[in-house]
Amino acid sequence: MPKKQTPHSQKTKLSRHRHKHRHVDALENEFHTVLKSIADGVVVINTDGEVILFNQTAEKITGYQSEEVEESSFEEIFHVQTEGRQKVSFDIHAVLQNGELTETADHIFLLKKDGSTVPITYSIAPIHHNGSKIRGAVITLRDVSREYEINRMKSEFVSIVSHQLRTPLSAIKWFLETLIENHQNDPISDRQRDYLEQAFQSNERMIILINDLLNVSRLESGRVRNDPTSIDVATIFRSVIQEMEIFAHANNVTIDCTFCEKTIPDVYVDPGKIRQVIQNLLSNGVKYTRGKETLRIEVEVRPKEIEFRIQDQGIGIPESDQQRLFEPFFRAENAIATQAEGSGLGLYICKMLLEFNGGRIWVESTVGKGSTFFFTLPRAN
Ligand code: ADP
Repeated sequence: MPKKQTPHSQKTKLSRHRHKHRHVDALENEFHTVLKSIADGVVVINTDGEVILFNQTAEKITGYQSEEVEESSFEEIFHVQTEGRQKVSFDIHAVLQNGELTETADHIFLLKKDGSTVPITYSIAPIHHNGSKIRGAVITLRDVSREYEINRMKSEFVSIVSHQLRTPLSAIKWFLETLIENHQNDPISDRQRDYLEQAFQSNERMIILINDLLNVSRLESGRVRNDPTSIDVATIFRSVIQEMEIFAHANNVTIDCTFCEKTIPDVYVDPGKIRQVIQNLLSNGVKYTRGKETLRIEVEVRPKEIEFRIQDQGIGIPESDQQRLFEPFFRAENAIATQAEGSGLGLYICKMLLEFNGGRIWVESTVGKGSTFFFTLPRAN
């Protein structure tokens, strides 16, 4: 039998209820204070993309006070851009609609209230209600000015050192060349000539490495001019293949370009930069071989972009290494074992050059069977 409620028990329940509410309020206040004081910028938005919480660090990073932004649209106030000042979006709609977490891999520049920029990394995580319905999103902003500055100094250091090394290396190259070429007037033994030629080759490799390092530091610091124009990439492929003929022949590799004699739509890119990408990918395809093979180059034209595929039958890349391939200085174990020479900078440079030109690069590979490098370029309108 349920106990009959007396006015007394009714009162107790109510007060307990009130007490519980007070407890929740206190807890909410506590959370609010904690969120407000976190050392990362924290911004909470509702499903309409309006700011409902803006903590102190977010104020410090952006230069806006919470009163100025709360209840306003996050996307209308906050803008981000790349190193090359290309406008990009926070893309909060993808998070609010699909409920997927978005994170930046690299830093990006946030436009502050005073018009200056600050390098940041951010993440946008959906807030789920009862584990399913999306109630909003929480955006965290991290000021990475210090890391950015250290990185800039490192690039500058590499750039200065590389510049300083280039001059003596060019001098050595010139002296060795003169000694090798003038051996009729100035007789040297075959053994001496052999040594000189080896010294010349080593010097050449150092020049290539220094040029790669200089390239990287220029690209990383954004000091590179990118001049996109409408071009036919097949022409670039043809000329790179022609240049590479002797190297390919020496490695027993036949290059088969399936579209080089055809007309493909123009792309909108910097020709010099894309030439470098093609050179790097083809020379890798020729370098990492296991014997007689064919390097096949294919194309797929899509409405907005063109996809190129460079497929080799070489040593392949272990699956565990495939993700790190585009990092600077990374070389897979099987490549080190078969090809002692290499800096591990080529693919990193390719990735950066393509990003500058609105393209992407990725790889599919099986050890012992071969690799296919894919890259895309935006079509010219
Ligand atoms: P490098 O060739 O100087 O080592 P890259 O940046 O061009 O530098 O390449 C990085 C690494 O990616 C190579 O060391 C090798 O492990 C792997 N790689 C690149 N291209 C190929 C390929 N076609 N086949 C197998 N491995 C490759």
